[in-house]
Amino acid sequence: MRNLYWFRNDLRLHDHPGVLEAAQCDELLLVYLWPRQRPWCNTQGLGEQRTRFVTESLQALNAELQGVGQRLLVLQGSAELVIPDLVRDYNIHAVHTSQATGSYEQNTIATLGKRLDVPLSVHRGNTLFSKGAVASLSTTLARTFSPFRRKVEKHLTADSETPTPVRLPPPVGADFHKIPAAPCKPHLAMPIRGGADAGKRRLRQFLREDGGIREYKETRNGLDPLDGSSTLSPWLANGSLSVRTVAATITEHEKEFGANESTYWLYFELLWREFFYWRALEDGDALFRAGGRDSAVYRCTFEPRNYARWCAGDTNFPLVNALMHQLVETGWMSNRGRQIAASCLIHDLGIDWRYGAAFFEKHLIDYDVGSNYGNWQYIAGVGSDPRGGRAFNLEKQSNTYDPDGLFTAKWDGFRPKQPDYVTDAADWPISPSGI
Ligand code: FAD
Repeated sequence: MRNLYWFRNDLRLHDHPGVLEAAQCDELLLVYLWPRQRPWCNTQGLGEQRTRFVTESLQALNAELQGVGQRLLVLQGSAELVIPDLVRDYNIHAVHTSQATGSYEQNTIATLGKRLDVPLSVHRGNTLFSKGAVASLSTTLARTFSPFRRKVEKHLTADSETPTPVRLPPPVGADFHKIPAAPCKPHLAMPIRGGADAGKRRLRQFLREDGGIREYKETRNGLDPLDGSSTLSPWLANGSLSVRTVAATITEHEKEFGANESTYWLYFELLWREFFYWRALEDGDALFRAGGRDSAVYRCTFEPRNYARWCAGDTNFPLVNALMHQLVETGWMSNRGRQIAASCLIHDLGIDWRYGAAFFEKHLIDYDVGSNYGNWQYIAGVGSDPRGGRAFNLEKQSNTYDPDGLFTAKWDGFRPKQPDYVTDAADWPISPSGI
C-alpha cells in the first residue's frame, strides 16, 4: 500500500501525528508545494528573506528525512492539480495532510477532497489544543481574546507530544529534484536559519542557556530580535517547531526553575497565536474583508504615493521607516514594531489595512495567515479588539521604545521630510510654494 503525505505548515518530524498516521503503509511519498502569493493589494511573490527561510526549512526537513530513509519531493503548482496527478501516476491509496487556516487553504482541501478518488485525511495542525477540545468550550468561538483565554486556562491543557519516527517506509520511486539553494544569506541582524534543529536550538537558548524567559514580560517589547522576545515565531509559523513542544518546554522550565510572571507570559502569548488560529478558521473569507466579520463600515483611502512611501520606509515618521527597513532586510519585525508600523499605515496615512497586511505577508519569515490578518484587523478596529482599534501616538512610541534614536539610526529611519500630498483632489500637481 502506498500513501502520500502533503506537508504544509508542519515542516518537521517531531510531534507530528499526521506523518505517523500516513506512515502506516509500505511506501510513502512525501510532498511539499512551493507557497505562492497571488497578486493581491499591489503585492505579489515572496520577499527574498521569506524565500530563504522557506528554502532552508525544506533543506533541513529533507536532511532529517534522509536520516529516517525518506526524501522530500518539492513541486510548484496548485494542490488541486498536482496531487490528483501524483495519486494517479504513483498509484497512491490514501492522501494525508494537516489542518491549515485561511479560506484559500480551506477551499483547496474541499476541492481536493472532491477531485480525489482515494481517501483524504486532514490531521491536526500546529496548535496547542485539538479542534474538538476548542469546540467543547462553547457553541460559538469567543469574539475577543480575554473570554477565550479564561475558558482555555480553566478547562484545557496543551496536548502532549507524539514520538518522533525513527524509520519511515521507503519513498515511492519518484523523480526527486534537488531543492534549490537559498537566494540570500540571513541578515547579520537576524542570524537565524530555517529548520527544526535551529528552532529547537533557539528554544533551548531562550529557556535554558541565556534564561531570557525569566524576564520576558519586561523585555518583550524590545525592537531587536533574539534580545527580549523569544523570536520563536519563524519556526512556529511554518511548523518546523511544534507549539506543543514549546508549551511542554515551558512547563519543564517552570518545574525546574520555578514559575514567574514571565514564564506564564510566554504561554499567554502562545494563547494569542491559538486564538487567531481558531478565529481565522471560523471567519473564513471575512478575514480578508475590509470591514471584517461584521462587514463594518471602514473608512479608508488608497493614496498610492503614501503606500509606496510606507513600503519603502520613506515616510515622515522616522521610527516607522526604520521598522520597514528592518522588515524588508531581515524578514522580521518585533511585535511592538508591527503595531507601530500598522497603526501608522491605518491611522496616520488612512490606507486600507489590507495593503499593509499583504506587504507583511510578502516579507515576514514568520508569516502566518491567522496571526497576520487577525492582528491587522485588530489594529484597524474591524476584528477582535473590544476597544474598536488601536491608534498609537507615534511620537510617544518613539520616545518610549527608542528614546535615543539608536534603532532608528541603525535602520536608516531619519529621512528628509516630504509633503503629505503632491497632487490635489483633481490630480493636479500642488506647487511646493503653494502658488
Ligand atoms: P514573542 O513575544 O516571544 O511571543 C511568543 C510567541 O507567541 C510568538 O512566537 C508567536 O507565535 C506568539 N505571539 C506573540 N504575540 C502574538 C500576537 N499578537 N498574535 C499572535 N501570536 C502571537 N505573528 C506571526 O507569527 N505571524 C505573523 O504573520 C504576524 N503578523 C503580525 C502582524 C501585525 C500587524 C501584528 C501587530 C502582529 C503580528 N504577529 C504575527 C504577532 C507578533 O507580532 C509576532 O508573533 C511576534 O512579534 C513574534 O516574535 P516573537 O516570536 O519574539 O514573539
